[in-house]
Amino acid sequence: MASVNEIDYDIVIAGGGMIGTSLALALAPLKLNVAVVEPVEASESVQPSFDERSTALSRSTQRMFEAMDLWREVVEASTPIEKIHVSDQGRFGFAHIDAKQQKVEALGYVVINRVLGQVLRSHIDKTERLDWLSPARIVAANSEAERCAVVIEDASGRRQLTCELLIAADGSNSQVREMLGIGVVRSDYNQVAVIGNLLPEKPMRNIAYERFTESGPIAMLPIADKRAAFIWTVQANDAEEVLQWGDAEFTRELRQAFGGRLGQFSRVGERAAYPLALSKAISLTAGRGVLVGNAAHGLHPVAAQGFNLGMRDVAALCDCLFDTVRGGDYHRSAFDLGDASLLTRYADWRQDDHRNLVGFTDNLVKLFGSQKKSVKLLRNIGMLGFDMLPGVRGLFARHTMGLAGKLPRLSRGVPLTPN
Ligand SMILES: Cc1cc2nc3c(=O)[nH]c(=O)nc-3n(C[C@H](O)[C@H](O)[C@H](O)COP(=O)(O)OP(=O)(O)OC[C@H]3O[C@@H](n4cnc5c(N)ncnc54)[C@H](O)[C@@H]3O)c2cc1C
Repeated sequence: MASVNEIDYDIVIAGGGMIGTSLALALAPLKLNVAVVEPVEASESVQPSFDERSTALSRSTQRMFEAMDLWREVVEASTPIEKIHVSDQGRFGFAHIDAKQQKVEALGYVVINRVLGQVLRSHIDKTERLDWLSPARIVAANSEAERCAVVIEDASGRRQLTCELLIAADGSNSQVREMLGIGVVRSDYNQVAVIGNLLPEKPMRNIAYERFTESGPIAMLPIADKRAAFIWTVQANDAEEVLQWGDAEFTRELRQAFGGRLGQFSRVGERAAYPLALSKAISLTAGRGVLVGNAAHGLHPVAAQGFNLGMRDVAALCDCLFDTVRGGDYHRSAFDLGDASLLTRYADWRQDDHRNLVGFTDNLVKLFGSQKKSVKLLRNIGMLGFDMLPGVRGLFARHTMGLAGKLPRLSRGVPLTPN
């Protein structure tokens, strides 16, 4: 149990990035005492999660924000995707996914991470029973029989917190995952994503473009002010040179790789680079600790699924916690949030979605990255077949929208309301 100098929480969340912040807000209706420990405030330009990247939010993420009563503000800050256009440099085959055909208003919405951070952060201070400990970082964690002991470090030094459940939402290089003794399988793609935004000559018309090139995929997403957010995947060896190019050279080379669909590019903003790797935690739980978001799985951004997959972790974990809290009739002594059966239920639930999405994105990178003649032919047929076979396209769209498999309440848009 907690000593006099310790603060005891029901839940401690390591990391107040895209997933940790969303999780803290999603947990609010459960009326638990929660602390979020985050080293870098969202308002700082060096915040590694709420940065200048753009994120395509899937339909299941939209439904979550709706259930959390945040969607009105998120959608105001976002741009809808009405069509997705996938093409392969140097071939005729291309694929279309259309919101109308899928009978949805939009296939997804694009939001700049920094802007999403402002929306989410503005709700944190209004959330009861939530302590936002920042700047502070978790430096040690030890799962014991009745509590998890967590040592945090901030400007005043080190202190200990205790909690029933420790949730690691501290990203792909999760230190808390390591503290919990959970291993990770990692493979380097030897690619770097160069991101930024620019002004295309032709209008984006709410179309998201994905183009597969010899060096890797390029995504062009519609954002506010007629601009496009780009994610240009280049081979790791070339990244330094690409980042040194001036604006004119950069836009010319990007236009060359992307093709002429959007005309010339101009007014390119600052560029940033992200080395790409696939990571998958060996287990999702250990003792009183559990992993969500990139701490559990780090994906290639080719299918724009990392955050959305992490949000479904949040939805499933909240569902399991909600059932437990409700089952105990909201009496604090009547349930244990770190109970092994609760955490096993969460881990079992997430297994298929993780396996499918990790496999799907990894295969996509390999299929479109391969220079083998047989694979090139296959993907050409695949692209045409993909566009001509509505069943295949529907399944792909359901995955990109995050609607495949058994969905937790929040992913279905159902709020976690106490009886
Ligand atoms: C170029 C690019 C484009 C992408 N586009 C998309 C997209 O369109 N759609 C999509 O769904 N996904 C996309 N993703 C993936 C998405 O960005 C990630 O899945 C998402 O950021 C994961 O959020 P997270 O909170 O789990 O981890 P992170 O974003 O890594 O955040 C981790 C947080 O933990 C904090 N932290 C670190 N160490 C500690 C510690 N010791 N104690 C406490 N806190 C700590 C960090 O400061 C940070 O705030 C993209 C990724 C890249 C690289």
